[in-house]
Amino acid sequence: MESMQAAVVEELGAPLSVKDTPIPEPGPGEALVRLVTSGVCHTDVHAAHGDWPVKPTPPFIPGHEGVGEVVAVGEGVTNIKVGDMVGNAWLWSACGVCEYCRTGWETLCEQQQNGGYSVNGSFGQYMLVNAAYAALIPPGADPVEIAPILCAGVTVYKGLKVSEVRPGQWIAISGIGGLGHVAVQYARAMGMRVAAIDVTEDKLALAREYGAEVTVNALEEDPADALQEKIGGAHGVLVTAVHRSAFGQAIAMARRGGTIVFNGLPPGDFPAPIFDIVLKGLTIRGSIVGTRQDMVEAIDFYDRGLIHPKVATRELGEINAVMDELLAGQVDGRVVLQY
Ligand code: NAD
Ligand code: ZN
Ligand code: ZN
Repeated sequence: MESMQAAVVEELGAPLSVKDTPIPEPGPGEALVRLVTSGVCHTDVHAAHGDWPVKPTPPFIPGHEGVGEVVAVGEGVTNIKVGDMVGNAWLWSACGVCEYCRTGWETLCEQQQNGGYSVNGSFGQYMLVNAAYAALIPPGADPVEIAPILCAGVTVYKGLKVSEVRPGQWIAISGIGGLGHVAVQYARAMGMRVAAIDVTEDKLALAREYGAEVTVNALEEDPADALQEKIGGAHGVLVTAVHRSAFGQAIAMARRGGTIVFNGLPPGDFPAPIFDIVLKGLTIRGSIVGTRQDMVEAIDFYDRGLIHPKVATRELGEINAVMDELLAGQVDGRVVLQY
């Protein structure tokens, strides 16, 4: 059996092992992809650490922002062919027949498989995709730049849609990391006015570069007080931060009638103010990645030149260092592995 190099989680919380593993064979409906790049999402850190109530089962290969070329297809695959460029996604597959799948909410399917979590992902030289759920990479796209669209891009694009913020209204984006820095760009492209909140100056500078009109360092001033004072509160708030404290603050950043969307997934809970939520008529909703149609739309924004992720390339052998940097909040934009 032929083998490939991959970064494998052998034990939750332990460093990943970069080692030889067998190249998988595509089953019915699947395709084998030779990877060119893969973004590293903070979710991969949560996966490797077993941070969430539903844990992945080692050994597994993380990664759900992989871009590569189809080199073989399994039985029954007709929508993609050898030579096509495709990407994997967190929504690796869904059942297609349940109530959620039928009503355009396949991201809520209880039978879904998740790339780099319940099925092996893109931290290796090859990966499998489910042909019906793989993202189609437009011709000419830069495989390094487009990788972060596959999770960060589609997730914040969907999050911004469900914030119900209209063009000309304010969205507050809390956390300007991999997700947040593209969120600023999508929000601007969607006609929203942006206030950005983070805890480091370089991330806020990045947000300003992408068009944020107001920036707040949450370590220096109370972001809720600051936003109420500067803009009268935001019509919508998108939380991509990896710290629990940002979630309570987000509720207080909204103006009356506003919607607060949670994308970030730090482990744990936070106290929420019942009185404010009720009297201000707030809506609080979670939002998880996006559907295949959201992916097509998110990629289309990129393809039209409206989104430019800030990317730095690294090698697979550096994956543990990259994960440590993400955990320490030291990554500006997205790190993309290049094979
Ligand atoms: P990242 O590490 O690149 O960015 C996180 C950002 O949060 C950093 O810029 C950090 O400085 C900032 N931050 C930390 N504490 C903060 C605070 N108190 N206030 C404001 N900002 C703060 O991570 P990422 O890849 O952008 O992922 C962010 C989170 O979103 C992770 O928890 C990840 O698992 C989750 N995620 C969710 C979905 C989804 O579908 N809901 C999809 C992808 C990622
Ligand atoms: Zn992700
Ligand atoms: Zn389903």
